[in-house]
Amino acid sequence: MNLVDILFPKFCLGCRMKNYFLCPACLGKVRLVRQICVECEKPSVDGFTHIKCKRPWGLDGAVSIWEYEKVIRQSILKLKYNFAYEIADELAVYTVHYLKTNVHALPSNTILVPVPLYMRRERWRGFNQSERIGKIIAEKMGWNFSPEQVVRKSSTVPQVELRGKQRKMNLKDVFALNSSKKLNGASIVVFDDVMTTGTTLKEVGRVLKRGGAGEVWGLTLSR
Ligand SMILES: [Zn+2]
Ligand SMILES: [Zn+2]
Repeated sequence: MNLVDILFPKFCLGCRMKNYFLCPACLGKVRLVRQICVECEKPSVDGFTHIKCKRPWGLDGAVSIWEYEKVIRQSILKLKYNFAYEIADELAVYTVHYLKTNVHALPSNTILVPVPLYMRRERWRGFNQSERIGKIIAEKMGWNFSPEQVVRKSSTVPQVELRGKQRKMNLKDVFALNSSKKLNGASIVVFDDVMTTGTTLKEVGRVLKRGGAGEVWGLTLSR
């Protein structure tokens, strides 16, 4: 046992069981999402964007894993606080297990790009949870990891406080490609913790495709 375990003993966020933040039993109670087409939000096998829904610079598909409920919701909410690194690590391990056993549509030779947070908010939160989780996922999946591929240009009002059209406006031209990192047709998985409308993923995807990416998918823990 190290000092951190003594000072901050781990308890499952769902049932208080020792040694986990998300114990397998509580995670098992969270429903898995049904994959949808990110454009029309209707069911789609493996999360592919329907051929008829494809748009210029649009995502080729998107995969989410869990419903935003129970211990998944609790752990994602906790990620917003400092020192939640271990929760991030557990989520990453469960995600990789799920991807390896259930998901076959994501491009195999790929670069994981986490959705960037605006610098100021990142510092306030302590860390970019999508970057932390994404890094572990990339390592364990054998993907490349490129946290500086896309940068956020300016501060925006958090998406959850806005609706529909406002959300789109809020994100228009918020992200920019890091011009020092060439894409040359590379396959990309854009990663975020939660997908609400998919607008953020789509916007990051658009920037990447315009910058020369090939296939681009979205991946989120929850929806
Ligand atoms: Zn539990
Ligand atoms: Zn569709």
